[in-house]
Amino acid sequence: MEIQIKIGKEETGPKTITVPSTCKRVSRHHAKLLWKDGILTIEDNESTNGTFVNGKRIAKTKVTENDTVWLGGVGGNDHYQVDVKKVFSACRESEEKQRTDYSKEFAGVKQAYIEYKAEESKLKNSQNVKMRVVNFIPMVVGGLCTLLGGPGFIGLAVGIVVTLILLSKSSKHDIQEQITELQIKYQPRYCCPKCGTKYPFTTHWKKLEADGKCPNPKCNAEFVKKSSKTTDV
Ligand SMILES: [Zn+2]
Repeated sequence: MEIQIKIGKEETGPKTITVPSTCKRVSRHHAKLLWKDGILTIEDNESTNGTFVNGKRIAKTKVTENDTVWLGGVGGNDHYQVDVKKVFSACRESEEKQRTDYSKEFAGVKQAYIEYKAEESKLKNSQNVKMRVVNFIPMVVGGLCTLLGGPGFIGLAVGIVVTLILLSKSSKHDIQEQITELQIKYQPRYCCPKCGTKYPFTTHWKKLEADGKCPNPKCNAEFVKKSSKTTDV
């Protein structure tokens, strides 16, 4: 992606840096910056007093984030210093806004869902085991009662009451809470890498992949590169 930024005292508009008129040694159309794929270049526009990178007059050169760039001369009120760091962050931001290919990041979204589901099914399995054990209680207590010579139906009744108490106290509630905790843990990763829209865990990553893009209509993040649809399982 390319971004061109014009710098000068008479440059106005969205992709320009307007130099204050007090900087007398700066020309009206002094120089331009070119951002291409993360690389920033500055080119002097045959200005009268020149463009300086790290104190050296240049015609055209690459600029890194830590370079100092002056127009019209170095230091002093008649000259102008370009805020290079600000240019870098503005270009990066603009690049990010225009980027639509989020297929790499989508792998992380998918991974979050898979990890979440694995933990959720572990929770549910342990719950099922508990329930099975609890369901045996009336039979066990009834059986014990019979063995000890008492009437089995009383034991059975006691067992049922115990079971009901255990069921009402337990874990149905706990497990819902634990699942909610799990969702809180994974939600920051199960969301759009661009706009941050949180995806419900009832939405499978495969649905997102099939749609190929973020469900938020205002977002243009694409999860599947148009050329390379995957048929992952
Ligand atoms: Zn989005």
